[in-house]
Amino acid sequence: MTDFQSLGLSNGLVTAVSENGYDTPTPIQQMAIPLILEGRDLMGLAQTGTGKTAAFGLPLIDRLLMENKKAAPKGTRALILAPTRELVNQIAKNLISFLKHTPLRVSSVVGGVSINGQIKRLSKGTDILVATPGRLLDLVDRQAIDLRTASHLVLDEADQMLDLGFIHALRRIAGLVADKRQTLLFSATMPKQINELAQSYLRNPERVEVAPAGKTADKVTQSVHFMDKTAKGDFLVDQLRDNPDGLSLVFCRTKHGAERLMRKLSHSGISAGSIHGNKSQNQRDRAIKELREGTINVLVATDVAARGIDIPGVSHVYNFELPEVAEAYVHRIGRTARAGADGEAVALCAPEEIGLFRQIEKLIGIEITVAGGDVPPMSAASSGRAKRGGNRNSNGGNGKPGGKKPFRKQSSSGANDNASENRRPPRRRRQNTRRDAA
Ligand code: AMP
Repeated sequence: MTDFQSLGLSNGLVTAVSENGYDTPTPIQQMAIPLILEGRDLMGLAQTGTGKTAAFGLPLIDRLLMENKKAAPKGTRALILAPTRELVNQIAKNLISFLKHTPLRVSSVVGGVSINGQIKRLSKGTDILVATPGRLLDLVDRQAIDLRTASHLVLDEADQMLDLGFIHALRRIAGLVADKRQTLLFSATMPKQINELAQSYLRNPERVEVAPAGKTADKVTQSVHFMDKTAKGDFLVDQLRDNPDGLSLVFCRTKHGAERLMRKLSHSGISAGSIHGNKSQNQRDRAIKELREGTINVLVATDVAARGIDIPGVSHVYNFELPEVAEAYVHRIGRTARAGADGEAVALCAPEEIGLFRQIEKLIGIEITVAGGDVPPMSAASSGRAKRGGNRNSNGGNGKPGGKKPFRKQSSSGANDNASENRRPPRRRRQNTRRDAA
């Protein structure tokens, strides 16, 4: 059996890893760690919950230790970009646990909190900086951070960064970090744009893959109930009441929908919280903590707010509304059955969502078990909703990264700047250029 030492990691890190309770490297860790230690660029295709953070974090730390340099004031030696505040915080927390026996420092910067404290912390320089792209660029513009010494760049959840319209920010940041650098790109799905992005960012990369793109977590049991959209609320209440000991994540498409549903659940006596773009960072952190600790049993979430969050013990993921983009289904249900546990994913599908449902089945390559209701005909799908990918518009709508549409500057730090959860399915093409994720 492979262990962490045989992958080439230093003794100090192997100790930290075992203190974290990791005995055996996961497949993505087995494949990626030796290549990253060699200094190779890498494109990693891995589902959520596969141990991606340690797959890039551990060898990155070892390389920084080997280089034996000091961070320059306002500088960082390694930069990790992630799409959402939750994911940034989670990555930073993971890295801090690995760094225990080293002199390295990790810092994180996200929107939605005061920038002044971040400017102060960055003034001394840091070894690893984990950031959302929007807040990072704010700090660059205020000359609080100098990226020229960053010789390691990690793009995590790259597909989501594109979905959120970060392409312009990523291009700008790539021009600011050191030319001579190691770049690692991780993505759970591999749409064409990610391949194009990889080609422009990575040098002769190794590609590692632990599950085919779009393949859902193996240990998740999936089912669908067909019903009218007005029946969904009561149905969900019944399901949650039948499962009083479970921890459930419920996904809605819009933040208002999520808030309404959370209130309905609370009125029905179910202890529920919500996370979406209208919640402050503190409120979101508290809701996640409450679910983690079991103070609440149900968290109603929008995609952007829930991206990347790692809550051990989530037993059920409910797709109360199907996502507009089929890949989001894979991410949603990846919130359960993490780190080897089992989980259940239940989709509630209204007749007008049948097109989206079929797109999901096509993407994951399996037929989802029908647990209730009558399968509606495809003609019930409302036009324009059944599209996948074509509506994502993360690139100015021209199908290529770096589309030539003008860059529209938007707020980077507000909790309300979440384009995807603010709207119903788009009726027209829009430029989706955002600078930070809610
Ligand atoms: P990630 O994909 O990085 O979000 O990791 C998913 C979960 O798996 C996290 O809770 C990690 O702490 C855990 N994990 C990562 N690597 C291992 C490992 N080798 N053994 C056990 N748990 C792990």
